Amino acid sequence: MYETKAYSAASATSPLASTRIPRRDLTEHDVQIEILFCGICHTDLHVARNEWGNATYPVVPGHEIVGRVAKVGSAVTRYKPGDLAAIGCLVDSDRTCPSCQEGLEQFCPNQTIVFNSPDKHLGGVTYGGYSDSIVIDERYALRVPANLDPAAAAPLLCAGITMYSPLRHWGITQGKKVGVVGLGGLGHMGVKFARAFGAHVVVFTTSPGKTEDALRLGAHEVVVSRNADEMRKHAGSFDYIIDTVSADHDVNAFLNLLRHDGNMTLVGAPAKPLAVAAFGLILGRRSLSGSNIGGIAETQEMLDFCGKNEITADVEVIPIQKVNEAYERLLKSDVKYRFSIDMASLRSG
Ligand code: NAP
Ligand code: ZN
Repeated sequence: MYETKAYSAASATSPLASTRIPRRDLTEHDVQIEILFCGICHTDLHVARNEWGNATYPVVPGHEIVGRVAKVGSAVTRYKPGDLAAIGCLVDSDRTCPSCQEGLEQFCPNQTIVFNSPDKHLGGVTYGGYSDSIVIDERYALRVPANLDPAAAAPLLCAGITMYSPLRHWGITQGKKVGVVGLGGLGHMGVKFARAFGAHVVVFTTSPGKTEDALRLGAHEVVVSRNADEMRKHAGSFDYIIDTVSADHDVNAFLNLLRHDGNMTLVGAPAKPLAVAAFGLILGRRSLSGSNIGGIAETQEMLDFCGKNEITADVEVIPIQKVNEAYERLLKSDVKYRFSIDMASLRSG
């Protein structure tokens, strides 16, 4: 075991603060990664503040990690010291269940998430990427294409895969009309991927000030979702809508925009259950679905796709000392469009 610097929340109401946490010594399949950048996902905030009721303190958030391999265990074959490597949400799974066998580790009932998950090695819970260094089985580490800026690639590990996976699964290709609800970290990646897959992309936002950015990011049209007239113009026209909203909101307004047999996927995870009007689904044989990140192989596929197509997140790089301020801005939908923490600030701070 060794100690490393980190930022943690001590309770649901405490700001994140500097601390030291233990990391396991390398087993033969492990790599030790010095963290360069870690994105800030809204999930970090939901958990740090116990909004989903599942937090175990101290919480060290962070699941969009890009770093440099510092050491490798004796049986590691895919990484060597100095390599760029990435870690997303998944750091382990049982490897034997039907989901794991299909490469869908995101549905494994015995998965280990990078933070706030029972830690098989050290006891307690796992600690995430708001830290100096981390140890992971090489099987769950990912390769980052060398042409991508590491600060802007970090958010691909959650925001990126969480949008890429459902857009692929529901067959979004040329000619489909796709809506992206909420232009935050996930939403802006959804726009980039849906556009890259050839869809006609419409952004639904509550922030009229984001209109120009949405168009620059690749949207063909932007709808201010609080404007009922603008919404009505799109009634019954969408093949697919993906909803990234982190707070309570009316999903029925969006279900009514689907054509018959259209599908809307929730990836945003508000703490409170959402009300769904049965007729919004019944009348158009529409469906409402959900999606959880993506498996390891698909995450690598997404990173490789981003390398080929030069896709990364639009990031605001911040020092870790600004993390509490960043959380407050996240709550005000004031992020353009992902915070990426420069972890050098933790080492020098
Ligand atoms: P984010 O950057 O804060 O973006 C959320 C966006 O939702 C905001 O920018 C805002 O967009 C919109 N929004 C916020 N409050 C709203 C409200 N009251 N009514 C309507 N729209 C509102 O968050 P994120 O990091 O993208 O995460 C979004 C959600 O996805 C979170 O709940 C997170 O936990 C969840 N998540 C799920 C998965 C998964 O695997 N399913 C993975 C990662 C994250 P506008 O300003 O454009 O309206
Ligand atoms: Zn996330």
